[in-house]
Amino acid sequence: MTDEPDLSKYRPDTRAIRGGIQRSQHHEMSEGLFMTQGYVYDRAADAEAAFAGELDVYMYARYGNPTVTAFQERLRAIEGAEACFATATGMSAIFVALASILVSGDRLVASRALFGSSIQVFNLYFAKWGIEVEFVDGHVLDQWEAALARPAKAVFFETPTNPMQDIVDVRRVAEFAHAAGAMVIVDNVFATPIGQRPLEMGADAVIYSATKHIDGQGRVMGGAILGSDEYINGPVKMMVRQMGPTLSPFNAWVLLKGLETMPVRVRAQAASALAIAQFLEGRAGVARVLYPFLDSHPQAKLARSQMSIGGTVVTFDLAAAKGADAKAAAFKVMDALRLFELSNNLGDAKSIVTHPATTFHRSLGPDGRAAIGESEGTIRLSVGLEDVEDLKDDLAQALNAA
Ligand SMILES: *Cc1c(COP(=O)(O)O)cnc(C)c1O
Repeated sequence: MTDEPDLSKYRPDTRAIRGGIQRSQHHEMSEGLFMTQGYVYDRAADAEAAFAGELDVYMYARYGNPTVTAFQERLRAIEGAEACFATATGMSAIFVALASILVSGDRLVASRALFGSSIQVFNLYFAKWGIEVEFVDGHVLDQWEAALARPAKAVFFETPTNPMQDIVDVRRVAEFAHAAGAMVIVDNVFATPIGQRPLEMGADAVIYSATKHIDGQGRVMGGAILGSDEYINGPVKMMVRQMGPTLSPFNAWVLLKGLETMPVRVRAQAASALAIAQFLEGRAGVARVLYPFLDSHPQAKLARSQMSIGGTVVTFDLAAAKGADAKAAAFKVMDALRLFELSNNLGDAKSIVTHPATTFHRSLGPDGRAAIGESEGTIRLSVGLEDVEDLKDDLAQALNAA
């Protein structure tokens, strides 16, 4: 294998294309796909040495695979982290990132507005295992300060939040967390590695659902955890290797190639998302539009200090109607859309529309949704790569029809 030269002098967009390349003896241009679960040893003594940890070779795909390594190394290079470990899904990344360091009696402080499955994991499993979980309103610094006045083991949040686009002040929360002895883990799915760099703002670890922008074309699932060498190659690696939420080589290969185009895709999608947010704002039938880079966003200044793009997701509330009427109104608009696909993924090249209250935030219940400002009339758009004028036309006709 011929390794690439040191990438440290290059910028993230270059690292997205050149990171993690390990050419085989065939000198292939595109990265090889090592579709193998096992490896062979030259001599019995080599197997013995490998199991004793004295020989550094691939042993079994649950432990490692060259294609998975290439994906990890490329994402690590983009993020500028010391280490990266891949997982089968974003949820397994979140679970391992926390479960590998928390023990019974520990405190976890998290923002209330989270991806639905994250809340389920915390409430259904961590709570049962004796881990104290305290939720705060992520955009309210006083609540973080109060919750972190007592010792805690970990802090977990998304910023911007899904789907209400609240911004968590990464630098300040990291200060409170570190004073409380907590490790800060950020779900950076919405902002992407291109739009926001939590590790440079004081976070200790970042997780991704690679299913979203890293694939970007709706094909495979995957996840990743990035952070210090000690954390990733310590508890994280141990847990994934023993428990098995391993990223498949095929998925790793798709994601590795996805990373090459992620920077351009995500910037183009974010430019369209901002244009759509501005287009929707003030339109008849639209009560409010939530997008981090809109001047009307209550935390617009903080958003611009943390993010280089506003993200690819636009959230809006329909005007007037409440309860069942609001849901019916939202469904009417969504069913009238022709270009936006009805689905619950995000970050895809194809634009997607989702009704949070009846899909990924169904389990929150009306009170849980009200607590984060989400209603039955809230609609989430994941803006894709279609011509933005066609997307605007589609939204205009759907709002008019409804
Ligand atoms: C999708 C998503 C996840 C979970 O990722 P999966 O790949 O679906 O397991 C976690 N956090 C956020 C913000 C997400 O959008």
